[in-house]
Amino acid sequence: MTGLVTIVGLGPGDPRFLTPAAVEALAAATDLVGYGPYIDRVPEQAGQRRHSSDNRVELDRARFALDLAAQGARVAVVSGGDPGVFAMAAAVFEAVDNGDPAWRSLDIRVEPGITAMLAAAARVGAPLGGDFCSMSLSDNLKPWEVVETRLRAALNADFVVALYNPISSARPWQLGAAFKIVAEIREPDTPIILARAVMRPDERIRILPLSEVEASMADMSTVVIIGASTTKVIERPEGEAPYVYTPRFYGVRP
Ligand code: SAH
Repeated sequence: MTGLVTIVGLGPGDPRFLTPAAVEALAAATDLVGYGPYIDRVPEQAGQRRHSSDNRVELDRARFALDLAAQGARVAVVSGGDPGVFAMAAAVFEAVDNGDPAWRSLDIRVEPGITAMLAAAARVGAPLGGDFCSMSLSDNLKPWEVVETRLRAALNADFVVALYNPISSARPWQLGAAFKIVAEIREPDTPIILARAVMRPDERIRILPLSEVEASMADMSTVVIIGASTTKVIERPEGEAPYVYTPRFYGVRP
């Protein structure tokens, strides 16, 4: 089998944050497969077929890509951010694991991209400077009880927590429920970063204490970063955005 599937990370938005390796993989593809808005980010190329789909059918899209590759195509499956972070790479491998045995002989590669939490962190300072973890708040693919148990564990372990998929019209209450759990475990002045559409033209980043945060301040293009007990805000002159960082150092300096 000569077919190839490359799952390509497009980064957060601005094409300057696309890796040269991802650009090469996109240019070498005979077929692009992905959610419409991600496909739209890739410049059109003569002779390259574009297969847009909606966002709900990741596994079907993965099978479609594998089928094309099995017929000899060089397929690029596009994903926002990094394809391994709550995105298409896992869906492709899940399809291979449970699907046509012939797919196992395909060449499957992953081209990494800058994931939303790293882009957001870079915008505000170094909030992920200490130990951190990330979670998807979506209960489309896993039960809500799992989300709640993990969130409590992460907060109790004093990780900085980055929340992906915080809210959507189909999942309106989950972020509010998550903030309630955060308020049980973290102090009211804990810094919360709401980073929306980072590195896109409509970027908006807010830094607020936990006591002032509301779920309605986020949407499905927002990644939420919850500070650890050690995360600090450095205030700056009037009109300038503060910096946020989590120190790596726990001890007393000599
Ligand atoms: N693979 C993607 C994440 C897909 S899950 C990545 O690595 O970034 C989709 C979620 O990612 C969104 O609900 C949002 O929480 C986050 N996200 C993706 N792009 C973003 C951006 N440019 N700014 C802020 N959040 C983003």
